[in-house]
This record gives sequence, structure tokens and C-alpha cells, in this order.
Amino acid sequence: MIVLDIEGTTTPIAFVHDVLFPYARTHLAIDDADRTALHAEYERECDRPATFEPEAYVHWLMDRDRKSTALKALQGKLWRRGYERGELRSIVYDDVPRALARWQAAGTPIAIYSSGSIEAQQLLFRYSNHGDLTPYLSHYFDTTTGPKREPASYRAIGSGTFISDIVEELTAARDAGFACVLALRPGNAPVAAHGFQVVRSFDEL
Ligand SMILES: [Mg+2]
Repeated sequence: MIVLDIEGTTTPIAFVHDVLFPYARTHLAIDDADRTALHAEYERECDRPATFEPEAYVHWLMDRDRKSTALKALQGKLWRRGYERGELRSIVYDDVPRALARWQAAGTPIAIYSSGSIEAQQLLFRYSNHGDLTPYLSHYFDTTTGPKREPASYRAIGSGTFISDIVEELTAARDAGFACVLALRPGNAPVAAHGFQVVRSFDEL
């Protein structure tokens, strides 16, 4: 199995930070179910704003990049609306669809492992600048499988090759027996010496 990270690997980091996250902020629409889920999390939060105001609380969570289930669900809903309306279209590097087709033709299952929710992953590959790429993908994993820097998460996923831009993720995957490849894409942060195979394009694989 080939397992792919998204941000900085298949997709520019800037798309997530400069397009997706701001879209959720500027198109915020909170219904009763969202409000209830947000309030339940607010009640359990130790370090929280003095009063609960749903919109302000959502911005507060986003400002801190909190791994909030209620926030992720809300963002997923807002992004789905944006993609369906044609206001959002994801960016996947040009070499990615070619590689997906090549691996699929070779009979290799292809999976995604990203900290974004599975719904957000599926939307991103369904509404891409290269069209619907979900027919190439057979599995999706998010942090419900486990943190990306823990070998146990990769053991739960299985075996094969993992491609990511983050050395700590590759190290965890290697410890779980995966072959590992570092994606060096434009706009990625510089990486320290690591010893992993490096590719600038999936054409090199
Ligand atoms: Mg990444």
C-alpha cells in the first residue's frame, strides 16, 4: 500500500492555510446542532474564554489550531458547501494524478493519512484542480487512527510506503516498518538532515 500525506506532499501547504481555513472563517454558519456540540466541548475546556458565544468560540479554536471534533465537523460542512457551490477547488500537484494512475494500474492500493478529517480529505480529492481523484483512493486515515508522529498509528494502518514532508512522521512510519519518502515541495519548510529518500515530484518514484 502507498500511504500519502496531503499538506506539503500532494497539495501546497498554502492551499490549506491561505484558502481552506480562511474560507471557513468568512463563511461561518452555525446551526443548533453545531452550537450544541461546540458548547459541550466548551464546558469541558479548562483554558476557555469567559463567556460562550458560538462564533467567537469558533474563531478562538481556529486561532489556536485546536484539534476540536466539533470544529472539524463544522469546517467539513462549510467546506462541503464551498466545494459543491464551486467556490472552492483544491490544488493537487500535477505529478500526483499521473502517479495515482500508475500505482493503481500496478495494483497497488493507495491510502491517505492526514490530520484533516476523513470527510475533508475526501472533499479535497473529489473537487481537485485535476478533477475527481477519489476513484484512485481506497483508504482514508485521520487522527482517529492515532497521532501522525506515533509508530503505533502506522502499525494500525498496515505496511507499505509512506510519503510525507515531515521527518518526524517518516521516522514514526519507519519504526513501524514502512519504506519512507520525503516530499520536498515548493513552499515547504526546510528540513534537517534525515537520511530519507527525497523526491521533488512523484514522477521520481
Ligand atoms: Mg504534511
